[in-house]
Amino acid sequence: RRNKMSKPLIVITGASSGFGAEIAKLFNADGFPMLLLGRRTDKIKALPLDFTNVLVESVDVTDKKTFENAISKAEEKYGKTDLLVNNAGVMLLGNVLNQNPAEWKQMMDTNVLGVLNGMQIVLPQMVERQGGTVINMSSLAGKKTFTNHAAYVASKFGVHGLSETIREEVSGKNVRISLVAPGAAETELLTHVTDESALNDYNLWKESMGGTTLAPERVAQTVKFIYDMPQTVNIREIDIAATNQN
Ligand code: NDP
Repeated sequence: RRNKMSKPLIVITGASSGFGAEIAKLFNADGFPMLLLGRRTDKIKALPLDFTNVLVESVDVTDKKTFENAISKAEEKYGKTDLLVNNAGVMLLGNVLNQNPAEWKQMMDTNVLGVLNGMQIVLPQMVERQGGTVINMSSLAGKKTFTNHAAYVASKFGVHGLSETIREEVSGKNVRISLVAPGAAETELLTHVTDESALNDYNLWKESMGGTTLAPERVAQTVKFIYDMPQTVNIREIDIAATNQN
């Protein structure tokens, strides 16, 4: 990994904003070839990156075929994926009494099935060559409850469950599966919430903790730290939140 020419391919989903964009910046600064995925490729192309070794593809992670095609295209150029960061996700807050089930489906499809899609695409070659890493972006909502987050909590508990299960399945093949579980951070995540009262409750909760949230760069540093450990060391999970978050 030290020699710039020999650095392996890093694939990041949800690279168009928030955590994904910060993760892309860190690996780009270290000269890794990257495949950056999101539905809004214009936003990825506008990031302050050196695009020499970067491929940008429009991929909806719920569509396994386009996801797979993009990875194949990148692997032809840069060799096998050594790290997949399954970061794409949506958090549509709402109370189960009145939330539109279409929002539950969008969260399950993106946050759970999108992660499984990514893992099914990259794991065969990782198991085969006995190397490689997958880092799944979960949340503290993947470990504890938050009111008005029922479906999101379900999706992120799902991410925790599938990641740990698959880790046990591939650990004997020298493949690492890790989880990052962040607390509240200012990204575009909340901008998609349609339930005003759930959004209001969330903002009151944040204010009650002093209003300071996690800087997205800290999550990116966490991902990099996990990856930079020797392949024989698997940091299974890191929980990270602003100190004042309860
Ligand atoms: P953002 O909304 O800023 O970023 C989400 C990213 O996911 C975007 O790049 C978006 O790209 C992408 N995305 C969403 N749906 C799809 C899809 N169907 N296919 C492909 N890409 C998709 O939020 P964050 O950076 O905050 O979120 C990143 C991850 O971190 C998520 O999994 C989220 O659940 C998790 N998280 C966030 C926390 C926070 O407080 N911010 C706390 C804990 C976890 P595009 O729209 O271009 O497709």
